[in-house]
Amino acid sequence: DNLANKIAAGEVIERPASVVKELLENAIDAKASQITVKIEEAGLKTIEIIDNGEGIAPEDVALALKRHATSKIKDVDELFRIRTLGFRGEALPSIASVSELTINTARSQTADVSGTHLVAKGGDITQNEPAPKRVGTQVKVENLFYNTPARLKYIKSLQAELAHITDIINRLSLAHPEVAFTLVNDGRDMMKTAGTGDLQQAIAGVYGISTAKKMVEISSADLDFDVTGYVSLPELTRANRNYITVLLNGRYIKNFLINRAIVDGYGSKLMVGRFPIAVIDIKIDPFLADVNVHPTKQEVRISKEGELMNLIKTAIRAALSDEVL
Ligand code: ADP
Ligand code: MG
Repeated sequence: DNLANKIAAGEVIERPASVVKELLENAIDAKASQITVKIEEAGLKTIEIIDNGEGIAPEDVALALKRHATSKIKDVDELFRIRTLGFRGEALPSIASVSELTINTARSQTADVSGTHLVAKGGDITQNEPAPKRVGTQVKVENLFYNTPARLKYIKSLQAELAHITDIINRLSLAHPEVAFTLVNDGRDMMKTAGTGDLQQAIAGVYGISTAKKMVEISSADLDFDVTGYVSLPELTRANRNYITVLLNGRYIKNFLINRAIVDGYGSKLMVGRFPIAVIDIKIDPFLADVNVHPTKQEVRISKEGELMNLIKTAIRAALSDEVL
């Protein structure tokens, strides 16, 4: 079973940022309103995620390290209307199989008499005992890839890994303005969002207050789609597409055509090779989107793509021309 988990880890856990993503999504699924990420050596030494979410019941903690032990799908139909971020039950077992994992968790608002302290090394549980009943869950991942030297070798620069981690935290912060995120890197605060639920404030936490002030609100809808968000004024263009965040029903996705529609909407106002800062949230009937294309769930297929692209383009043009007039 450890071998199967290690193989799965090869697919799901590519780098430290994949661990951060999976653990953050679990904290969000557990309805945390405050999440702190602490990393050392770009996550290779330590990744610690502390949340104030629902916690895990004592009898379920060890189970969470077993493959496909998700608590998030009650029947097959639900698979097609997935709303939580994780649902495959693969992340924790995969992470555990390639690291030293410590979980401290408790369900504060329940009759549980205690919380749980669990330690696993390379997927083998070495400790699983009652612990003080605190709020939420703390997952600590140490010495990632210590037992998969090939994977470790593939990690070339700590700086690049740190950039991947900041990127995923930024995207999730923009997708969840209702959650207060904090990133602490080697003991220093790197980023903090307010968690007020206001998207512009989340943008301020991620890109800075002065940037957030130069963003224009967009809002447009037709029978199939509802598009809202913020785009930057032309004076705030960037040299690459990294500052474009697309959310589908509140979830961060990657979709080439939507990106193109956003850039096109900016279009004539810009010089070639300049891109906006943008956060675009698309609300859509889940039946029109296929999020099961890839295990990391970022590539998404959408029906009526052409219609959506036009809607986005028009919404951005309208918002920017209002602003210029
Ligand atoms: P999935 O998220 O796909 O269900 P995971 O392997 O990521 O699978 O997690 C396994 C299970 O562990 C989850 O279904 C959830 O019940 C529990 N879990 C993991 N992290 C947390 C957390 N931070 N708070 C509460 N429950 C958690
Ligand atoms: Mg998960």
